[in-house]
Amino acid sequence: MTDRRDGACGAEIIDGKAFAAGLRQRIGREVARLKAEHGITPGLAVVLVGEDPASQVYVRNKGRQTREAGMKSEEIRLPATATQEEVLAVVDRLNADPAINGILVQLPLPAQVDELAVIDRIDPDKDVDGFHVVNVGRRMVGMRALVPCTPLGCMMLLRDRLGQDLSGQKALVVGRSNIVGKPMAQLLLDANCTVTIAHSRTRDLPGECARADILVAAVGRPNFIQGEWIKPGATVIDVGINRIDAGAGKTRLVGDVDFESACRLAGAITPVPGGVGPMTIACLLANTLTATCYQAGLPAPDLD
Ligand code: NDP
Repeated sequence: MTDRRDGACGAEIIDGKAFAAGLRQRIGREVARLKAEHGITPGLAVVLVGEDPASQVYVRNKGRQTREAGMKSEEIRLPATATQEEVLAVVDRLNADPAINGILVQLPLPAQVDELAVIDRIDPDKDVDGFHVVNVGRRMVGMRALVPCTPLGCMMLLRDRLGQDLSGQKALVVGRSNIVGKPMAQLLLDANCTVTIAHSRTRDLPGECARADILVAAVGRPNFIQGEWIKPGATVIDVGINRIDAGAGKTRLVGDVDFESACRLAGAITPVPGGVGPMTIACLLANTLTATCYQAGLPAPDLD
């Protein structure tokens, strides 16, 4: 198979893996400075309920990268049979723990646990996923807020390619979930883009794509966005992570954008894997550092 990162793609490949590595280094430096100047070590707690294999991998990676950045990491594992009260009790304990600055409850949760109620219980100042309604509301009205990690990472990649000023760019976000699509659209709007949000009831998605200078795909359908829909020269951010059958009993990861055909018209594109995925964990560390600084009455760290 052709190596798509070896010149076969006509578009610039946006290397999220390399960007995330640089970001983690900058976070590590800021963590060291926080320790040296203020005696504070940021602490991140990740709560995992059940034994979903993908979630276990995510949680392990989060713990490792947290420690590598010089932060404290706590992992709390509960059985798949945990009750709502048991999960809420863990959140209450972490809310009250001064050594914990950030709390992340790994989603999805088992059916007997109400996800929104759990998110609602997290102290908004420790809500490093940025999903609490207080952070959603603060963000919406332009107040200081913790921003969901995946959209934050997408914005960093966009600014790295297009420059800080995204004013006037026509942006299309395909998907309107609370964790990716909606916050992504809000961040693009805050950056003065002209934003369209597409979803499963959108008429003429190819036509919407053809007008977009920036296209963010967060659909959850493998290779769904077709290359010929893309505006020539557009910047394409593929959030999708889909595991498909690769034959011979193997699977492989693909995005929501048909990479091969998108390479022909896009100006730049994130690959899957190696695009948005690594940015999400790096931004979780960034949010933990930011939350720690806010809790200590310090300004947000400079991670540029
Ligand atoms: P959701 O399933 O919550 O949302 C999917 C969205 O896609 C919905 O808004 C849905 O519309 C829309 N959609 C579905 N079908 C169509 C269609 N035919 N045309 C247009 N829109 C459609 O998914 P998430 O937002 O949670 O995740 C999206 C993808 O991103 C997944 O592949 C997920 O694995 C990945 N992801 C990656 C992360 C990373 O770190 N890189 C982090 C989080 C997610 P409607 O609202 O009308 O149903």
